[in-house]
This record gives sequence, structure tokens and C-alpha cells, in this order.
Amino acid sequence: MHLTHPTNRPAPQRLHRVVVTGAAGFIGSHLSRALLEAGTTVIGIDRRDPQRDPVAAANLTELTAFPNFVPLTADLMTCPLEPVLLDADAVFHLAALPGVRPSWGPRFDAYVAANIQSVQRIMVVASRLGIRRVVLASSSSVYGATDGSPSRETDHPGPLSPYAVTKLAAEQLCLAHTARTDAATSVIALRYFTVYGPRQRPDMLIHRVLSAALRQAPLHLYGNGLQQRDFTYVDDVVRATIAASLTPAANTVINVGAGCSTPNSDVLDIAHRLTGHPVPVVPAGARAGDVPATLADITQARDLLGWKPEVSLIDGIEQQLRHLKESA
Ligand code: NAD
Repeated sequence: MHLTHPTNRPAPQRLHRVVVTGAAGFIGSHLSRALLEAGTTVIGIDRRDPQRDPVAAANLTELTAFPNFVPLTADLMTCPLEPVLLDADAVFHLAALPGVRPSWGPRFDAYVAANIQSVQRIMVVASRLGIRRVVLASSSSVYGATDGSPSRETDHPGPLSPYAVTKLAAEQLCLAHTARTDAATSVIALRYFTVYGPRQRPDMLIHRVLSAALRQAPLHLYGNGLQQRDFTYVDDVVRATIAASLTPAANTVINVGAGCSTPNSDVLDIAHRLTGHPVPVVPAGARAGDVPATLADITQARDLLGWKPEVSLIDGIEQQLRHLKESA
């Protein structure tokens, strides 16, 4: 891992124009909003068409009110990228096929295309155009099974699902580009730990738990409830992501997590307390690729990004619940 590099030109004080891939997604829409509020022009590219996809439409609603938002419905695998990336101060590459469990299925090729080949396309064009910084959304899943102690960026990765393998490959691909002697673009890859908050993807645990509690519908709980996750609030993730585009550090990976781990059973208790309803749990057995615990060592994020998480799990789940009720 290199912390300094000739490609690491002085960081701009502020971002004038950026590209966010996956802008119609959960994290991409929050990131875009924060950038737009700071006055940055955001080219938000996503293949989900809000005319046809209600989740994408809901995620994009508040962005389209900003005059500095330029939405683009296009697939990164096929659209011409040069005109999109031209003059960008940074590219935030969040577009991917997320989710551990479905990555075992017949869509492996689609995972490879969205999570690895798109990175290659972005890096080639970013380098050609001399874009200063690409920030890549990577994942805690690259660590695989741990003994429950905090994962450090220097730990040997051990991805346990096709999804996790694609995220590790994406990191390594970016870093390979930065190691070229003629590299023009520097990279920070952020290993996000289980992100939650308003508009969280419907397949993710906290969304499923809150929906089940509100509707009194059965929650199929994978594992035994003792599985632990480092849950990270989306606003905290957004602050770290923007900091990664501005930091003079370069060509490295950085954990973005809350730095504490919570059993799924505690999430059920919090949901019960906040909604006033118990969550009707149906045990569903463990799923391949789901690791028992995740926990981030966040020393690098503190030292290189000047970042620390600010939102507690209970406050964050309360925000997510409020949003879920408002949008019901
Ligand atoms: P999301 O599915 O809500 O958003 C991803 C978006 O990328 C989608 O809107 C999708 O349409 C778009 N996309 C995918 N392939 C594309 C392509 N070829 N062209 C254009 N658009 C494309 O997912 P999310 O939860 O917001 O995750 C964002 C990123 O963060 C992903 O890279 C994911 O792997 C990573 N990540 C998320 C979490 C989490 O807890 N949500 C944890 C670790 C890493």
C-alpha cells in the first residue's frame, strides 16, 4: 500500500464538479445530496430508470430539485464515459451489484460486469482524462470470517462469497492502475461496513426488521441472531466518502465503520422498543457467505481522513424508522 504517489496532486479545497456512479442507489443518493448541498455539480449516473423503477425514483426525488444535479440514466458498461467524466475533480464509483447471498446464484457474470469490469472502464477513462481522484466503494466482506476482533486494512483478506471476491478484485484493479509509472489518477478504496439509514436497500437487515415490526409480518432471520455487524450510519459514510476525495493520502484502502459490533438480536430489541411491536421472527438458518461478525478498526480513517463516526445505532435506527413511516 502506498500513501504517497506522484499522481497525488495537491487536493482541491472544494469539489466543483464530480461524477457519482450508482446515484439512484441507497448510498449514492445520500452522497449526491450532501455534495449538491455543498454547491458541487454532480453528474449522477445510474442504469436504473426512475420512470420504471420506483426505488430509484424515490431515491432520486430530492436530488432532482437541485439545479446543480445532472442525472444520467445509462449503463456504465456501454455508455461513452469520456464526456461524462470530462473535467471532474473526482469520481465516486459506487455503482455495483451489492448483496452477498444472491451472488451465489446464476447472476455471477452480472456481478463481474458491474463490480469489476465497470472499474476497469472507469480507471482507463479517468487516467486518460487526468482525473485526480477515484473513490471506490469497497466492502468489509473482503475480510471474510474473523475471530471477532477489529479488522485492520493490513489483515490478510479472505472473501467468502462471489460478491466479496468481486469487491476485493475491484480494489486490487484500482490499485494496479495507480502503480503504473504513467498513472494520472489516484485512488482511495473505502471498505464500508453494513451501512444503514433512510432508504436502506430493502434486502438489508435493519430495513427488513423495521418493516416486519411495523407490518407485523414474519421476518426470516438468517443465522441464530448472534451474528454481529458493525452497523454504520449513512451520513457518517457520506462524510468519510467526501473526505476520501479530498485527502492528500492516496492509493490505499480505508475502513469505514462505526467501530463497534452489535448482535442482530439487539437490533430486534431496538426495533421492538422503537415501534412498540415485537418482531415476528421465523428462524431461517445460516446462508452461505454470511460471516459471523464484522468489526472495523477505524484508526486509518481517523488518521488519513480526519473522520470519526457520529451517529449512534439507536439514533440511526430511529431516523430510518421515521423515514420508513413517512414513505409508507
Ligand atoms: P444500491 O444497489 O442501492 O446502489 C447501487 C446502484 O448502482 C444501483 O442503483 C444500480 O442501479 C447501480 N448500478 C449497478 N451497476 C450499474 C451499471 N453497470 N451502470 C450504472 N449503474 C449501475 O447499493 P448500495 O447499498 O447503495 O451500495 C453502494 C456501493 O456500496 C456498492 O458498491 C456496494 O457494493 C457498496 N457497499 C455497500 C454496503 C451497504 O451496507 N449498503 C456495504 C459495503 C459496500
